[in-house]
Amino acid sequence: MRKVHIVGNWKMNQNLEEINSFSGAVQDMNDISCEAWIAPQAIHINLLKMKASSIKVGAQNCSNHDSGAFTGELSPKSLKDLGAHFVIVGHSERRAIFGEDDALLNEKVLKALENNLKVILCVGETLEERESGEFKSILKNQLLLGLKNISASKKGDILIAYEPVWAIGTGKVASPAQAQEVHALLREELKSVSGLDAQQTPILYGGSVKPDNIQGLLENADIDGALVGGASLKPDSFKDLCKLTK
Ligand code: PEP
Repeated sequence: MRKVHIVGNWKMNQNLEEINSFSGAVQDMNDISCEAWIAPQAIHINLLKMKASSIKVGAQNCSNHDSGAFTGELSPKSLKDLGAHFVIVGHSERRAIFGEDDALLNEKVLKALENNLKVILCVGETLEERESGEFKSILKNQLLLGLKNISASKKGDILIAYEPVWAIGTGKVASPAQAQEVHALLREELKSVSGLDAQQTPILYGGSVKPDNIQGLLENADIDGALVGGASLKPDSFKDLCKLTK
């Protein structure tokens, strides 16, 4: 059975004071049954890991190299040394603002796996792409190009996040039926990725998920959790999201 994952993406938010108060407020989370993960700013990975023991901590991005002359980059090897459990690769903000393409993202996926980090590969279409009717082939390409050359020994380390760009930070959540349609399609495509087990790979939904809409999403067979931005910043709503997965 696939375990439900609730993953917070804090983006470039949360200062030290906010992390301290968040950590204090999630001390009572030990009874939750889902996997509770958070990606803070990379400079806070170690702090959050030390302070919030019930949460697995990861990064929002990593380099496609282990080390070298890459000023400002985040080494996946060093992220692992720091205690990161996972890395998010291909978030739509990385694709759109930083111009990351599928070939680069595939290199990042492979490098993160090589360093024993779990990888959440994000895919998602813009509103224009959805309305043009092209979105299914766009999503399929993002998925298959991002997952090229995965070794079978890493099949348990891959998660997918379907994040329609039009639903991120907009308050406009995809309907459970819209999300399930895409998740089923992605699961079908995963069958053709050599080295992966499509049935065992968690596929998370992301885009304006909140405590009041998560249950409708999780009722669907192929929705295995959520990647959450805004609603993961406040400890109460993050805890509620985790509790509602029961
Ligand atoms: C995200 O940034 O991955 C995200 C899903 O954000 P939000 O939940 O705020 O829409």
